[in-house]
Amino acid sequence: MSQYENIWADLGVDLKKHDRLLRGLSVLVRRLHRKQKHRPKAMDYFDDILNDPHGHRVKEMAEHREQGGIVVGSYCVFIPEDLVLAVGGLHVGLCAGTNFAEEDADMYLPRNTCPLIKASFGFKVSYSCPYTQVSSVIVGETTCDGKKKMFEELANHHPTYLIEVPQKKNKRTREFFTEELLEFKRYLEKLSGNEVTAERLRQGIDQVESKFRALQRLFRCRQADPSPISGLDALTIVQLGMQDEVNRFAKQVNRLCDELEERISQGIGVTAKGAPRILIAGSPMSLPNWRLHNLIEKAGAIVVCEESCIGTRLFSKLCEPKGSTVRHLVEALAGRHLGINCACFTPNDERVEDVVRLAKEYKADAVIHYALQFCHPYNSEAGKVKKALDAEGIPMLEVQTDYGDSDNQLSMRVEALINMVVDNKKGGVLNE
Ligand code: SF4
Ligand code: SF4
Repeated sequence: MSQYENIWADLGVDLKKHDRLLRGLSVLVRRLHRKQKHRPKAMDYFDDILNDPHGHRVKEMAEHREQGGIVVGSYCVFIPEDLVLAVGGLHVGLCAGTNFAEEDADMYLPRNTCPLIKASFGFKVSYSCPYTQVSSVIVGETTCDGKKKMFEELANHHPTYLIEVPQKKNKRTREFFTEELLEFKRYLEKLSGNEVTAERLRQGIDQVESKFRALQRLFRCRQADPSPISGLDALTIVQLGMQDEVNRFAKQVNRLCDELEERISQGIGVTAKGAPRILIAGSPMSLPNWRLHNLIEKAGAIVVCEESCIGTRLFSKLCEPKGSTVRHLVEALAGRHLGINCACFTPNDERVEDVVRLAKEYKADAVIHYALQFCHPYNSEAGKVKKALDAEGIPMLEVQTDYGDSDNQLSMRVEALINMVVDNKKGGVLNE
């Protein structure tokens, strides 16, 4: 029996289901993470979290609530953690990357709903996720239709708050989003009993952005050839950052980067120099959605970057306040978030430009455009991304998938892409 079982039970977690979930996770970690070779030593911190995914951190959050604090759960990078920290709250990302609770979700949502929405909602209605249970409130957004409708149903099961995210980017929508965030600030103040002062908000922004800077540093390390860290490990770190305490996480990512930079200076990588380099662009990959990375890296290539909300879209933009009042800072937050090139925006040409730029910066030999099934925003943008990459001579494979278990077809397509990259590279060498 786990030492945390009483905490989970007090939160209303269905212990039997939860036990099955944890066992499944542990099998995955054994099969994927632990089988990797040449891993950096500083992965030990992140491995400890993987071995205890719902223990220590859930306990911290439960204690925080017992002491009168609030925990705010969310499913999207448009929800600013900075504001939550400014009222002394804790933030947790609740997006799920497994079909574990799909049947539970199917009782409420249409079957042809994106698997990320089903998985995250399913965790709530199956009472299998302690992070969902410990959340004082779940904050939703109006990014895509599937999520909007899911939040209406979610409100019948959990305290819910909704932020309206505009779908176009201009001065008017930026002002509108600033007002939305100011209203969210007032809601958080009421919920927590703490006022957001300019000083507290500045501190919140500094903490969140130190995490972003640490992740930027981690991703810069992946630009090296050979990459000093696998794509699977890098993705896992970003996923774990959705739940971990912000300062501790930033410190551990920086500690890892010290080791990675040392590895780079010695030419040490997780693959041989020249291994095929793949950039993944598209729908977010939430914990424990490791399937595509595993297939790519098992086939001898390396994932060097994710253009995703569990990747560059999360941490690339920083605040640029035009003053130091609360309003100035909230305006800067609105600007930072409207700088995220999510496919919910129209037009969204900046995302296409981002993919091409990132493919060059990370010296990617090919791009895999990854969209979840029924994710219309990202599926619809695949064609534009391909056209732009074609113009640069960068091959792209379009993948549309769910959280199902069958890897065969996907694996064949990934291997064909990697073989093509290897052939291209050999051709390049012969032609030099
Ligand atoms: S892809 Fe869009 S909707 Fe999904 S987490 Fe990112 S910003 Fe939010
Ligand atoms: S993956 Fe696509 S459909 Fe699913 S929640 Fe994100 S934007 Fe919406």
